[in-house]
Amino acid sequence: MTKSSQDFVQLEHEYGAHNYHPLPAVLKKGKGVFLWDVEGKKYYDFLSAYSAVNQGHCHPKIIKALRKQAKKLTLTSRAFYNDSLGKFEKYLAEMLGYDKVLPMNSGAEGVETAIKLCRKWAYEKKGVPENEAVIVVCRENFHGRTITIISVSTDPASYKGFGPYTPGFKIIPYNDLKELESALKNHNVAGFLVEPIQGEAGVNVPDDGYLSAAFDLCKKNNILFIADEVQTGLGRTGKMLACDHEGVRPDILVLGKALSGGVLPVSAVLADDEIMLCIKPGEHGSTFGGNPLACKVAIAALKVLKDERLAENAERLGKIFRNEMKKLQKEYDMVELVRGKGLLNAVVIRPKNKKTAWDVCVALKKNGLLAKPTHEHIIRFAPPLVITEDQLLEAVEIIHDTLKSIK
Ligand code: PLP
Repeated sequence: MTKSSQDFVQLEHEYGAHNYHPLPAVLKKGKGVFLWDVEGKKYYDFLSAYSAVNQGHCHPKIIKALRKQAKKLTLTSRAFYNDSLGKFEKYLAEMLGYDKVLPMNSGAEGVETAIKLCRKWAYEKKGVPENEAVIVVCRENFHGRTITIISVSTDPASYKGFGPYTPGFKIIPYNDLKELESALKNHNVAGFLVEPIQGEAGVNVPDDGYLSAAFDLCKKNNILFIADEVQTGLGRTGKMLACDHEGVRPDILVLGKALSGGVLPVSAVLADDEIMLCIKPGEHGSTFGGNPLACKVAIAALKVLKDERLAENAERLGKIFRNEMKKLQKEYDMVELVRGKGLLNAVVIRPKNKKTAWDVCVALKKNGLLAKPTHEHIIRFAPPLVITEDQLLEAVEIIHDTLKSIK
């Protein structure tokens, strides 16, 4: 008997941990900007798996690379060399202008790697006394779910009940240069870890000039500027990196998500030799990090970003999208605020007739568009970057009709 959406929801509920609260869309197929559920209903994907699917679902060139490599060699571990890893490292390092790449899998692992690297640099190069390094982070950050990372979270849903927490961090407000300047005065500060735009917090875009001024403060105080571009990187905000908007070249750069076009978990940390070579053989690693399958998929995913000029598309269509949303803001009381960069955008919802952002997302789903609320009143709109202008305008029409039906 064919199973319905409800059957699959029930199955997950019964056998899976309850650590997510998904919108009730049960998906079975994806292509480009579209997803289909088990009943065959077609949707615009306006989440892109939290910006992992920048290249669109099942991009043929990435899937081709996956299939070709899967038949040859998938995993060797780093106990041996393989004929794909070096090629990937060279491709990524040259593309973004760094000396070295350290491959991992998830975004959280990438951030953990950056933290370890920064601490090691502090002890070996900066002269911070052993075990006293401090990394400055921002309020409302989201860097992943490991114990160390949630130790710096200011969201109780992330950290409450999971202590004891990892020491060695100082939390300051985001987008506040005065606080940063004062925090950096401590000689033991080794790094400043920051998202160029806070995605999970609800697409918090800092003031123009914040990143470059923060970078300058780091340089003045011999502190590493660590950019978590797991969500903002690889074309999403209209440039290859969100830091490019301000001409900032992070000392340590963390990438993930779209590094594989959403095909496999692939993350990477980039830095120059002075920093990266502080980690010596045996001091860090991952069984799957840098596996040949991931490397071939990642090279294909990066080529697609470049060949299809996806950052440029995000820049152009992002402007159109925000313009259209601002028109809706004038028309509908429910739309309180529109913000974003490139195709990473958010609409802040003012609850109306007891309808929340969740209700809007449920109604959008009915009308054929998938988006997810973040923090109750914010809806993030982040379609795959392969979206065309016509498709974007059709999606805007769906958002318009949905708001009208709620009104
Ligand atoms: N860093 C940022 C900025 C993120 O947005 C995320 C995930 O949303 C992560 C890190 C964690 O990535 P992952 O879920 O792959 O561990």
